Amino acid sequence: MCDNRDSLKVVKFGGSSLADAEHFLQVKAIVEAEEGRRYVVPSAPGKRFPEDEKVTDMLYECYRLADEEKDITPVFDRIRERYQQIVDGLGIEVDLDTEFTNIKWAISHQAGRDYAASRGEYLSGVILSKLLGYHFLDAARIIKFSDNGKFDSEITNELVGAALGRHVHAVIPGFYGSMPNGTVKTFSRGGSDVTGSIVARAAGADLYENWTDVSGFMMADPRIVKNPETIDVITYRELRELSYMGAGVLHEDAIFPVRFAGIPINIRNTNRPEDAGTMIVAEANDSADARKITGIAGKKGFSHINIEKDMMNAEVGFGRRVLEVLEREGICFEHLPSGIDTMCVVVSTKDIEAIKDRVIDEIKKEVNPDSITLEDGLALVAVVGRGMIKSAGSAAKVFGALANAGINVRMIDQGSSELNIIIGVDEADYINALNAIYSEFMS
Ligand code: ASP
Repeated sequence: MCDNRDSLKVVKFGGSSLADAEHFLQVKAIVEAEEGRRYVVPSAPGKRFPEDEKVTDMLYECYRLADEEKDITPVFDRIRERYQQIVDGLGIEVDLDTEFTNIKWAISHQAGRDYAASRGEYLSGVILSKLLGYHFLDAARIIKFSDNGKFDSEITNELVGAALGRHVHAVIPGFYGSMPNGTVKTFSRGGSDVTGSIVARAAGADLYENWTDVSGFMMADPRIVKNPETIDVITYRELRELSYMGAGVLHEDAIFPVRFAGIPINIRNTNRPEDAGTMIVAEANDSADARKITGIAGKKGFSHINIEKDMMNAEVGFGRRVLEVLEREGICFEHLPSGIDTMCVVVSTKDIEAIKDRVIDEIKKEVNPDSITLEDGLALVAVVGRGMIKSAGSAAKVFGALANAGINVRMIDQGSSELNIIIGVDEADYINALNAIYSEFMS
């Protein structure tokens, strides 16, 4: 596919990959290992050890202090020190004094929360461009948001494309862009992933490499399942399903620009560059892949409203009236498994908790059910796998595993895409359920 040495790659490095001078040198070695790694998107330095502070968090703190008209110097000096240590460790000449004087003045004079936060990526970019000898392209000039604060993908694509056309090698800081009036605006947290994807699309890259501190996505949460395997290949749609259920590594919005352009994403580990990582692709060719599932994820904290009424199926508009009650109350429903005369609506407990009596009363008024109950303590488990579409017996395997482990299934939902099976179990069974399903498929 795209791993011939000269294919064009956009490489994004996360905060832990740029936490100190040693990591900057690892990044340099990775970039220089392949000629095709021509456009580099850095994050702000992250944590060096678990109790450490992320530069972005310190910048938000500076903004907060400035906003309360307090002195930002103590926190600001810690940020300056972090960058100074990096520059000293790299032994390069960069004039950080002028940068820091300007940034301190701007933050103290209310240049805005997003401006403050963006300086972490900006400074990483300045240093990295010097270290690599790459051109520095300020993201504020080429990544654009419209007046309503929404990312403007088309103008951005043109501007970034034109700027990249003028430079064979460039560093483009992640996480921010600007509003039409020029003020800096950031994406949401973790947004450098999005910048990398935007740059990959505009560059017409063959591959978007996203370098972090894990060797890709794991098939299950390692805090729950011991030593889960890494996923080699996952499709964008499978990733959406797993991320929705809490499996994070990549910013949610990062898949859209590259997906649009058909560019695969490769999640890689800066500390283990020899690992192949996970490939995220539009379509996977599975002929050689005997594995039937791609991953398992789950979440606790759901409630289900169970509604029964004789002849419900003949009552036109029944479902709509129930869902309208939720809509009026601003509650999203997660799943809607139903029977002939029963309807079950799964919602997040935290959304419904404070207003549950009112919601139940309203549903009673709307549809006059024979019975209605609301139960908490439901955990959802999503078994995701494009392979399940083609193979008979995956559902039997899932439910067999749960039955053997003595776990009662409280809800089942399988979409017609057959990409996933969602199972509801008691929260107390959650960990056992994930482990039982994982071992069933992996043994
Ligand atoms: N530095 C920003 C954050 O901590 C953006 C990023 O790392 O992607 O959220």
